[in-house]
Amino acid sequence: MAKYVFVTGGVTSSLGKGIVAASLAKLLQARGFKATIQKFDPYINVDPGTLNPYEHGECYVTEDGAETDLDLGHYERFLNIHTSQANNVTTGRIYQTVINKEREGAFLGKTVQVIPHITDEIKNRMLLLGKDDTYDIVISEIGGTIGDIESLPFIEAVRQLQWELPEEDVCVIHLTLVPYLRAAKELKTKPTQHSVRMMSENGVHPDIIVCRTEEPLNNDIRRKIAQFCNVKTEAVIESMDASTIYEVPLMMLREKLDVITLRKLNITGYAEPELDRWKGFLDKLKYPKSQVTIGLVGKYIELQDAYKSILESFIHAGAVNEVKVQVVNIHSEYLTPENVLEKMRGLDGILVAPGFGQRGTEGKIAAIQYARENKLPFFGICLGMQMAVIEYARNVLGLKNAHSIEMSEETAFPVINMMEEQKKIKMMGGTMRLGAYSCDIVPGTMAEKIYGKTKISERHRHRYEFNNDYLQQFADAGMIASGTNEESGLVEIIELPESKHPFFIGVQFHPELKSTVESPAPLFVSFVKAANEYHEKQVSSKTAVAAVAN
Ligand code: GLN
Repeated sequence: MAKYVFVTGGVTSSLGKGIVAASLAKLLQARGFKATIQKFDPYINVDPGTLNPYEHGECYVTEDGAETDLDLGHYERFLNIHTSQANNVTTGRIYQTVINKEREGAFLGKTVQVIPHITDEIKNRMLLLGKDDTYDIVISEIGGTIGDIESLPFIEAVRQLQWELPEEDVCVIHLTLVPYLRAAKELKTKPTQHSVRMMSENGVHPDIIVCRTEEPLNNDIRRKIAQFCNVKTEAVIESMDASTIYEVPLMMLREKLDVITLRKLNITGYAEPELDRWKGFLDKLKYPKSQVTIGLVGKYIELQDAYKSILESFIHAGAVNEVKVQVVNIHSEYLTPENVLEKMRGLDGILVAPGFGQRGTEGKIAAIQYARENKLPFFGICLGMQMAVIEYARNVLGLKNAHSIEMSEETAFPVINMMEEQKKIKMMGGTMRLGAYSCDIVPGTMAEKIYGKTKISERHRHRYEFNNDYLQQFADAGMIASGTNEESGLVEIIELPESKHPFFIGVQFHPELKSTVESPAPLFVSFVKAANEYHEKQVSSKTAVAAVAN
């Protein structure tokens, strides 16, 4: 039987509950435990698939095609495991399940209520992953902040489980903010006290309090928090702001978050944590040998969380190459053929981001044309790949106003078309081509060189596809489909051969969703390498010019 850890948050949102939960899981894994994490989101959407990225950041897609919260991305990146539909549950999904059961008549004439029916369903989900022997410890992160109306049923479910399960099978960790008042030069514990009191009013008592803070917690502060919040002093954990999220597991190790959790769960005889690879990665991350600047061309760039997995993939790939990757945001909406030269100045490569809808697409096309013509490394993901196909159609094949059916239904040259099975779909939620599909790579291509094999599997989230009617025309003009899905014939990868361009590659799938600290995405690794080579070439040509001038 598994044991259960619940992570709740107080005082404010954005304290990094997901990172603390993932760090704890990482430490438990490093000590030899089988640990997993799940996220409970209190909003009423059934999943985040229909949400605009401005709402809660990117939608993370799992192997089994679930559209989930971006925290699942952190779980996978930290633990190097696959999560699934079962790892993300929203209020919407809970209600949908309960209402469906009610329609089936499963409640035998009873009035269906929040307590017990909704809370029972939440408890089912909380216990689900621990039902067989797959995991020793299941960590459940409860979204939202204590005091939110929406999260009440989840807190009530935790209360019931704290009462129902043996005491040594449940540990509740509460993450709060301990603000530092600069004028008074003091850390303040009152918000934490209030937050824990509010939890107690809901009947849940935290065993461990993790304090997000800008300044170190001294012993007096720790004792004060412990006394007023009724926990042991050692269970008050300091979580200082970190320079990188990948530092947090080591900070939590120093604070003994894992040991104190294991003690509460009455687990003894565990191994020393094996974190050599993690530390090796951190060393490379902290001491890069060079730096490249990558332009991230997208329309959601005001919100960093919208491209979370892409930004993290650059961190992983940068460490492998021992290169610091500086990502510069370029708003595709304000990019035009007139200002593209100025906007691309100083870049060593561009990544054209995924997206939906018309806004910003012409800017993406302008950036791609610049990259193609100036041999600037280019990497297009999903919509970014589709825009590269459109750019090539318009500017190389001469297909005037070629477009994607998504942006222009009446285009004479629909080089990006709607997938056949998508045409009959009316419901928008959860109906894209989602999750892992295999891709066969053509031997001798850039793609084969990058992956080092001819069969791969990557995750997807799209409705539109490369129109195969144009395949030959593109190939004749030099742009080839170097990867396709065998069953459907869908184009997965397009590229220009190395003889034409040092790195010009677009993928219909999302390689960023599978990049982890221990297994960085090959496409990102190669793209950063190409950008570094471009950078070195630029530097050496500048040095040569300066030498001539002197
Ligand atoms: N809007 C495009 C499609 O649905 C691309 C989607 C994406 O970039 N994830 O095919």
